[in-house]
Amino acid sequence: MRIDVITLFPGMFEGPLTESIIARAREQGILELKFHDLREFGLGNYKQVDDSPYGGGAGMVMRVDVVARAIEEIFKNSKFKIQNSKLKPYRIYLSPKGKRLTQTRVERLAKKDWLVLLCGHYEGIDQRVIDGGFIDEEISIGDYVLTGGEIPAMVLIDAVARQIPGVLGKDESAGEESFSKRLGRRREYPHYTRPEEFRGLKVPDVLLGGNHKEIERWRRSKLL
Ligand code: SAH
Repeated sequence: MRIDVITLFPGMFEGPLTESIIARAREQGILELKFHDLREFGLGNYKQVDDSPYGGGAGMVMRVDVVARAIEEIFKNSKFKIQNSKLKPYRIYLSPKGKRLTQTRVERLAKKDWLVLLCGHYEGIDQRVIDGGFIDEEISIGDYVLTGGEIPAMVLIDAVARQIPGVLGKDESAGEESFSKRLGRRREYPHYTRPEEFRGLKVPDVLLGGNHKEIERWRRSKLL
């Protein structure tokens, strides 16, 4: 899968996406991430990307001409497109007004070959980016407001990446987890490991017994 991120702060993505499972997926070429600095598409000497809102009020709004051009140029200049001429990017704007990111939505997105994620900042983006058809879907990571779309984009990338076949090693299967289909979209059963007893806290007997049917039954009974 290929994911392009359009952001004013590409540096924010260093760290969370350069460690552990996501780093390994990138090294193996299962996941290709590209970060585009929106500032490079800015206007004039100051590379302006935003302006004050029509109608007044506080904050700055990201300009439609700048954002639209960034989205179009990324598609035009992408080598990925040339190699896979039939692919179309699925363009997402991270927004508190969007549809809530759920595990079902994550699984659906993981089936796409190519995502473009647009991160807003300040007051958000000019509505014409959405109304003009420059994005396909608005997605929210929850009912609260963050300073920018960068952390939401990282959340989406992380959740989507672990659904791509091969990203998780065989010890880290995504099959039986909270919200997975296999667990009926419910919350997972509790886990235990050594020691068998810690300050009087014991591992449930059924897990020590080795009776797989009973363990399975116990685990099912613990789903929330
Ligand atoms: N004025 C907007 C909030 C802007 S917050 C409003 O009231 O709806 C600035 C940017 O942060 C947004 O453009 C969006 O990209 C991102 N953002 C903030 N909260 C988010 C959330 N819950 N989910 C996804 N993106 C969010």
